Amino acid sequence: MPKTQSDVLSASTLVKVAEEFGTPVYIYHAEKIKTQYTKLKQAFAKSDTRFFYACKALTNINILRYMNSLGCGLDTVSIQEVELGLRAGFDPKNIIFTPNCVDLQEIIAAKELGVNINIDNISILEQFGNTFGGSYPICIRLNPHIMAGGNFKISTGHVDSKFGISIHQIRHIERIVKSTKLKVTGLHMHTGSEIKDVDVFLRGVEIMFEMTEHFPDLESIDLGSGFKVAYQPGDPETDIDLLGEKLTEAFNKFSAKYKRPLQLWFEPGKYLVSQCGYFVVKANVIKQTTATVFVGVNSGFNHLIRPMFYDSFHLIRNISNPQGTERIYTVVGNICETDTFGWDRKITEVREGDFLVFYNAGAYGFEMSSNFNSRLKPAEVMIKDGKPHLIRKRDTIDDLLKNQVEIAL
Ligand SMILES: *Cc1c(COP(=O)(O)O)cnc(C)c1O
Repeated sequence: MPKTQSDVLSASTLVKVAEEFGTPVYIYHAEKIKTQYTKLKQAFAKSDTRFFYACKALTNINILRYMNSLGCGLDTVSIQEVELGLRAGFDPKNIIFTPNCVDLQEIIAAKELGVNINIDNISILEQFGNTFGGSYPICIRLNPHIMAGGNFKISTGHVDSKFGISIHQIRHIERIVKSTKLKVTGLHMHTGSEIKDVDVFLRGVEIMFEMTEHFPDLESIDLGSGFKVAYQPGDPETDIDLLGEKLTEAFNKFSAKYKRPLQLWFEPGKYLVSQCGYFVVKANVIKQTTATVFVGVNSGFNHLIRPMFYDSFHLIRNISNPQGTERIYTVVGNICETDTFGWDRKITEVREGDFLVFYNAGAYGFEMSSNFNSRLKPAEVMIKDGKPHLIRKRDTIDDLLKNQVEIAL
């Protein structure tokens, strides 16, 4: 979402990258990531707070390496993300593993790699305790039963959610911890994505404070993420400064009462990388029907699925004709499925061959892409210090066939 000039890549910069590397292409602006990270650090400067980038939003190894260079930790949800983090150079101590519904084998693999582990169900907690006792400290993911988040699909803390162990099962957790001598050093919650209301976090942390009395070895409280960013001008955002102020106040007050020093942890994904990303496509055809003017672009939900999957709004602009007259278009993809990026959008006049940009394409953009329709995944480019670097080559037809095994027929 364009805000200030220095915060946003210009149309001409994006066009240049599109011309050099082709389209569709994801473009990431490194300095914007740094700006976001710095905002978080500053908002929480008065408390002992650490941030772990939730890398499921965007896992290109260069993005991970850049996060590491900023001093940010890493939050992972699969053993593969853990391995990517280690390859990117993260110290295992700076990696959190927060999977759900994985088997004990995957948890053991993470233990062998030495990362922080969040356990999110009673069954694994018991198995882990029985196998390792207190020899490897763990964190527990609780479900505080707070209904929050931009929509039901991305809300994870409600009563019907599969995530975390219900706070109402605390007695059961305690029994397992006691009888297996588990050492619990962290409590975790993550109530969902796109939470704009600061009070949700304050309610969450109060519940976590209440839970601390059951765990004598705590070192950290992890409030997950869910910071909302603006997707268009005027969109509400999580007020990070207010959040920092209020949470710091609550946290420091609690820490003074608590017998041990506690760290506050967060796992932002979207907040760090959403706005750094631009997805540039080409207008293939302008198709006027009786009711609608469609722009058909050389991409689809195989490359950016958020509009179709979550009904997400991504601002679309014509960077090849930024001064043109505004007209109303419906922007669709080239996939043989209903594939609409945006209905009735005011965009400056689009001509076939023009480049369009989708803003806020850094988080859950490339990462959720697929090869549906046997289309190739886009290239990724990182702009750092004003220079574009190719950080992922566009797929080729060989990538589609690479793991297929041809049998005698
Ligand atoms: C997805 C996820 C996050 C990041 O959420 P955002 O809305 O992208 O900030 C953080 N923690 C966990 C455990 C997650 O699954």
